Amino acid sequence: MTALGSAEADIEELRLTLTGLLAAELTAAAGLRRELHRNPELSGAERATAAAVASALGCPEAPDIAGTGRLIRIGPPDGPCIAIRAELDGLPVPEQTGAPWASANGAMHACGHDVHLAALTALGRAARRADLPVALLAVLQPREETVPSGALDIVTSAEFAGQHPAAIIGVHLQHLLPAGTVAVPAGVVNAATDDFEITVSGRGGHAGYPQLAADPVLALCQSVVVLQQLISRRIDPTHAAVISVGTLQAGHAPNVIPATATASGTIRTLDRHDRQFLRSAVGEAVAGVCRAHGCEGTVTVVPAEPALVNDPLLAEACQPLLRRAGYVVETEFSSCGADDFAYYGAAGSQGTGEAGTVLPSVMMFAGSGTPVSLHHPEFLPADRAIGDVASAMLAGYLAALVTPDRAS
Ligand SMILES: [Zn+2]
Repeated sequence: MTALGSAEADIEELRLTLTGLLAAELTAAAGLRRELHRNPELSGAERATAAAVASALGCPEAPDIAGTGRLIRIGPPDGPCIAIRAELDGLPVPEQTGAPWASANGAMHACGHDVHLAALTALGRAARRADLPVALLAVLQPREETVPSGALDIVTSAEFAGQHPAAIIGVHLQHLLPAGTVAVPAGVVNAATDDFEITVSGRGGHAGYPQLAADPVLALCQSVVVLQQLISRRIDPTHAAVISVGTLQAGHAPNVIPATATASGTIRTLDRHDRQFLRSAVGEAVAGVCRAHGCEGTVTVVPAEPALVNDPLLAEACQPLLRRAGYVVETEFSSCGADDFAYYGAAGSQGTGEAGTVLPSVMMFAGSGTPVSLHHPEFLPADRAIGDVASAMLAGYLAALVTPDRAS
């Protein structure tokens, strides 16, 4: 028997207790946030970050998982747990916030992971002082910003399965939402991503004698345009889908037609059938356009992350708890961003072919209170964001307590 499926009255009492304990942790959490912000570490190298957070959570000796990650269990040592994820890594972005505690090492917490870590620490420390009916598992996850994905490594690990997670909660800051708003929609909230590389082979030659060459530059440029037409003409206009080409490379001299040209980009889809269609359609379109130019075009698609799908029962259970905590709840928000948190809830079900623990999961988005976008060198939410993220994490933990245990 588990404590999941707890009674509403018990949950409300626990909510009030944890909310009070959490408030008392926020000043210390702001100090931790600034320390982490000043010393960001890149994906896969987050040793000092993980050590600082593990120690603040009272568990400096927690063993490494997935390289530099840690799992820290709070509450009952046996039975199921409710996992809450925070990401450890910064980005290779030189900071331009001008804050006294800005990073000077060339890396930056430009995705708010410093806030997420401080929030999880505050909640974990509060939870240690309460009588939890079900354990809270703090998942300090490495490598969110790069591949191979830290989430995939954790969700497929024996250590994570050995904790018997019944659900997993994630909260991410979001610059498109105002402070005081938390989005927790049911269903798909972030896109599936597939990256691709295009190689166009033609015949090089003198730029003044194009009739003697087969120009891969023009074939590649037309291919890029045609990829946008796949979105506008081949995808149902009521479905969100994006193709962005982020790199183009060709040639070394203005008067020489090169023999090859290359590009790379990303496909973002919210619908599984659109994902399958675009994976093959990109290759067919590029091959056809290049053939028309006397060139050969090939495309390699590299599947990245599955779509992030919020469990409907869990998402709906979060909504009243967030309102009771004073937040405006948004239930429609979704974007073509991506997050490897998707692996916890959807591994194996989105055509990734990866086996793993498939858990009821929910990702919430807390308004960052700054119009500056995530990943921008001036992204610097105020410390109040720590309390907002921690309150959303608490709502997620409590929501998992009131929903039935469906993990297997
Ligand atoms: Zn992030």
